Amino acid sequence: MEFAESTKFAASDMHSHLQDGRFGNDLDALTVYFKRARARGVRRFVCCGTSPADWKKTAEIARKYPDVLPTFGLHPWNVGRVEGDWATALKIMIDATVCADGVSGAALGEVGLDFAARNLDEAAQEAAFRAQLEIADERRLPVVVHSVRANDLTLKILRDYSKVPVWLLHSWTATEAEIERALASNVFFSFSPRCVAPNAVRARETVAKVPRDRILVESDAPTPLPPNGYGKPLSQIASFAVEARDADGTLLSAPASVVEVAEEIAAIRKTPVDELCRQIALNEKRFFQCWPKR
Ligand SMILES: [Zn+2]
Repeated sequence: MEFAESTKFAASDMHSHLQDGRFGNDLDALTVYFKRARARGVRRFVCCGTSPADWKKTAEIARKYPDVLPTFGLHPWNVGRVEGDWATALKIMIDATVCADGVSGAALGEVGLDFAARNLDEAAQEAAFRAQLEIADERRLPVVVHSVRANDLTLKILRDYSKVPVWLLHSWTATEAEIERALASNVFFSFSPRCVAPNAVRARETVAKVPRDRILVESDAPTPLPPNGYGKPLSQIASFAVEARDADGTLLSAPASVVEVAEEIAAIRKTPVDELCRQIALNEKRFFQCWPKR
């Protein structure tokens, strides 16, 4: 499945971790990824911080590249790994950030709950999630949410922070009833390559069931791509768990992959891809209206 003209595609990558060391330590190393993505019609890049250790680099990327919008937060995987007053550091980071476009500020993310088997303390995760949502609620910030095997509690918590203007449930897998519950808040759903992988049965069901006016796309880069590769022959993808690189050494899991995600979502929903992209553009507009201005 291919776009007849790739220039028709216009959407943003709503979730990535461009500050990840796998993209290289030098900020200039990202230029090639932005160039490729823009050439395919990817317009904006939401770059999500995950711990105090990567907030500074995330802010630097947003200061250098005008189409990058940063979020700062403590990811549930990192809750047990931080020391000191990280919440104050987070507020300072959010309040101080002005993007290279001179207009945008920062949102909150990636935050949430992950109750999959990783030996993470669930109560500590909830406490950290709520502490951060207080910050977002107070400042009326969009929130990028990670929720794995914790949907019931996540959905309860969302209702407690009514001043959060918009929620982005990233790479979310949910039942129809959970989707319905989520829609009581102003939520959008952004889907990654993993969500549309041929073997991701439950995730693909979620993709099929969410309302069309709530769909967005994300790369979740540099999270490794599903084994079918998205734009690359299967033989070039080493494995689901190993980072795959092109012959020139660049990562295959990169913002440009949202084009394949949109194509796959269109196929799952039996919608013409052009129509889906027009809808995503409208959805993005509504989402970004809630993004903080400076
Ligand atoms: Zn993420």
